[in-house]
Amino acid sequence: MQTRKHPLLSQAIGTHREVVSFHFGPTDRGRKVYIQAALHADEAPGLLVAHYLKQLLTKLHVEGRLHAEVVLVPVCNPIGLGQWLDHSHIGRFELASAENFNRHYPDVVDEVAAAIDGKLGADESANARLIRAALVAALRVHPVKSELASLRQTLFTLAADADVVLDLHCDSEALMHLYAGSPLWDRVEPLARYLGAAATLLETVSGDHPFDEACSRTWWLLRERFAAFPIPLGCVSVTVELRGEADVSTARATDDADAIIAYLTQQGFIGGVAPLMPALLHDATPLAGSEAIEAPVSGVVDYLRELGEVIRAGDAVANVIDPITGQVTVLKASTDGVLYARNARRFVHTGMRICKIAGKVPFRTGNLLSAR
Ligand SMILES: [Zn+2]
Repeated sequence: MQTRKHPLLSQAIGTHREVVSFHFGPTDRGRKVYIQAALHADEAPGLLVAHYLKQLLTKLHVEGRLHAEVVLVPVCNPIGLGQWLDHSHIGRFELASAENFNRHYPDVVDEVAAAIDGKLGADESANARLIRAALVAALRVHPVKSELASLRQTLFTLAADADVVLDLHCDSEALMHLYAGSPLWDRVEPLARYLGAAATLLETVSGDHPFDEACSRTWWLLRERFAAFPIPLGCVSVTVELRGEADVSTARATDDADAIIAYLTQQGFIGGVAPLMPALLHDATPLAGSEAIEAPVSGVVDYLRELGEVIRAGDAVANVIDPITGQVTVLKASTDGVLYARNARRFVHTGMRICKIAGKVPFRTGNLLSAR
């Protein structure tokens, strides 16, 4: 195993942060897996899974069972980790810019297209190598003017030439669920099975360029631009929501780390026989079909339905209670689907999203991800 340190652009004199990456396995096989944890900084489930993944990968490396380079960044957001305000941790947004750490990754598709124009051929693997090299080269020269931009560039450059990218997050209160590009579903489905995902949300354009989409979208965009040449969907990139922020235990983390290793074995990145794939708990659904129920008033939320329950359109999901007026506002679902995430906060302000239901029928348009 190699340890590499990637210094970020210093935002102020006397301050320096760095990203630490661990590198396992051979670098000469032309295959790579990239895994990072806690892009929203205080996502402890991913930090613990990364801890156990490091142990498993170290063992697999020593045993010579890795058929690909595996890069692990167990703590991928040192900026967010240092952000405390009024004794509370702020990990989702950079305090200086108010930008979400998982948005606005560089778009270098035009640069990559210009670099590969006239060089593609009939060999799909050779085209993939060309694109990966062009991607990394474009990101390396992408202008960086802030510590946050430097973090985005560092993480994206580490991931850009990988075949598989797993971005480990968690939700507020939630069941295991995944986000991925729609064209990738057949290669994401085994991961959903091994992890026991209660929902997989698929989309080709989520909005605001989150990390997983930045890694995978280049490939289908280049396919459209260079339709005469064979170009693979070269990066299976998945946002893995490791349940809720308080779902932290060694038992869960070791199970999740084992599931990720099982997936990588099943996909041929690790030698050996993959464990039998469990049944898929829920078929993938469109991100545009995921209903985020908002509280139209402020008050105390009393959930009427539990995570994992199948909700029907018209079902009451929660009450919002105002103790001054005595008013009880009933919040109802407008779609059928699985209740896969809830806000852990029980006091809500007007307009706050309180829970999410994975419906099968797309009905939303525009930016499909919340700013939060
Ligand atoms: Zn997150």
